[in-house]
Amino acid sequence: MNFSQLRNEGIREDVLIGVNKLGFIETTPVQEQAIPLILSGKDVLVQAPTGTGKTAAFGIPIINMSDVNAKCTETIILTPTRELTIQVAQELKKMASGVEGLKIAPIYGGQNLDRQLAYLRQKPQIIVATLGRVVSNINHNQLKLGGLKRVVLDEVDEMLDIGFREYIDEVFSKFKGKNVQTAMFSATIPPEIVGISKNYQKDAVCIKTTVAGQEIPDIKQYVLHISEEKKYASLKEIIWQKGYKNILVFLNTKAGVENLNKRLNKDNINSLCLHSDMNQRDRDMAMKLFKAHDVNVLVATDVASRGIDVEGIEAIFNYDIPYIPEQYIHRIGRTARANKNGVAYSFCTPKDKKNLELCENTSKNKLTEFIIDGVTNNKKDGQKFAVPTVRFFMNIGSKDGAEQKDIENMICAKVHMPKRDIYAYKIHDIYSFVEIDAKYKDEILAINGIKAFGRVLSIEVAGPKKVATKKSNNKRSNKPVGKPKNNNKQADKTKKAKTSKMPEQRFYHNERKQ
Ligand code: ADP
Ligand code: MG
Repeated sequence: MNFSQLRNEGIREDVLIGVNKLGFIETTPVQEQAIPLILSGKDVLVQAPTGTGKTAAFGIPIINMSDVNAKCTETIILTPTRELTIQVAQELKKMASGVEGLKIAPIYGGQNLDRQLAYLRQKPQIIVATLGRVVSNINHNQLKLGGLKRVVLDEVDEMLDIGFREYIDEVFSKFKGKNVQTAMFSATIPPEIVGISKNYQKDAVCIKTTVAGQEIPDIKQYVLHISEEKKYASLKEIIWQKGYKNILVFLNTKAGVENLNKRLNKDNINSLCLHSDMNQRDRDMAMKLFKAHDVNVLVATDVASRGIDVEGIEAIFNYDIPYIPEQYIHRIGRTARANKNGVAYSFCTPKDKKNLELCENTSKNKLTEFIIDGVTNNKKDGQKFAVPTVRFFMNIGSKDGAEQKDIENMICAKVHMPKRDIYAYKIHDIYSFVEIDAKYKDEILAINGIKAFGRVLSIEVAGPKKVATKKSNNKRSNKPVGKPKNNNKQADKTKKAKTSKMPEQRFYHNERKQ
């Protein structure tokens, strides 16, 4: 169904503006079924595979039904994790971009408490919240349920998996008997969820858009039978061979995640980690940078396996085979979102064979064996990034008022390339170095001579640093995106104050003579 046909169901023009902005034209099956039902006020229990647009399936009707003049919270959308809360709130804000006066606020644990209370005081009509946090807010009377009309539970199976059953009961008990419409969304509907629905929903309409065997969209699934020791080299080799720039690597333990991330950073692969022991700021930062494609590799535990929707993840690696077979489906569902295709690699050591079999059975899929010729990476040891890059020198620096983002904007505008293809910067006072995906080499050189920052731009190939500089000199700049950009800038600034500019300059001139 075309979204414009939703006018017949009562979807308003100002809501269609947001839908349009998101680039949605045709509804997905779950949206086609769920939107009219939710609009009609029915309770629903919806099962649909990951990546099929469940967020909009409840987001659109809820935005449409919200009263922008209401001075209370009308809808609570509950999710299992902080990351999902942030993501769903962002997606809903985009959908509501044409609706004036509608306030949507994310509420989650670990968030600055003042900010959270400030959000609540503004009386947003829609709150997106983690289940645990909302229970605490209700109990502390910070969130009033007087005007509550609708509750959505997203990723209910995950809520149960992480032991939130009690919270679910607690939340439902707060408004049982009141006239509150409920909608539950889940990728799988185990009997326990049917039970919850029977308990708390009123004549819920069940929607199921799963077709057996089609749970997984277009994902090529490979297995590598290897030893624990070979995992790391294999990972690096595949990244290199395929030129992947956006990948998600799953491990079963937080310590494993930390270790792998350190190793990748040491090898100058641009990665960050995500697990539940990290503080909220770092978790947000990791997701933000990964979403913006400012970081190539996200190394994570299963906190990232559910619901997270990052555009353009090319490959998923099960560095460890998950213990719970359902997690396999959720993990690999992070790629091939919205009808795109993707690849998943699972590293299977002899002791994982049984688990892998369970994963295959659960996903109704036999994995194809993937063989890498000679897992050696000697020839690539000097390679910093997953793709070949070229380092350019240019005659623009901080004294010309050029900050990283200005240089980035200038290059991307002139060359028509995305920012993520710029891999590293080093901005000095009167010159800078930028490292860019090698495929743009000719186009970059072609902008030589344009006017930029008040001077005539001179840009040329600088060559690899390691030829001329001491290791210790470029240790920092070798890890450009592994840390938040601002930190780097800060680091560069302090460093600039301490060290002479000569070595780098001399290096540059040497390069030219070669
Ligand atoms: P789910 O919750 O089912 O796992 P999401 O709601 O996260 O899936 O949606 C997956 C992706 O598909 C998102 O990037 C979303 O913007 C996109 N999407 C959703 N609905 C549509 C649509 N009708 N047309 C195109 N893209 C869509
Ligand atoms: Mg979802």
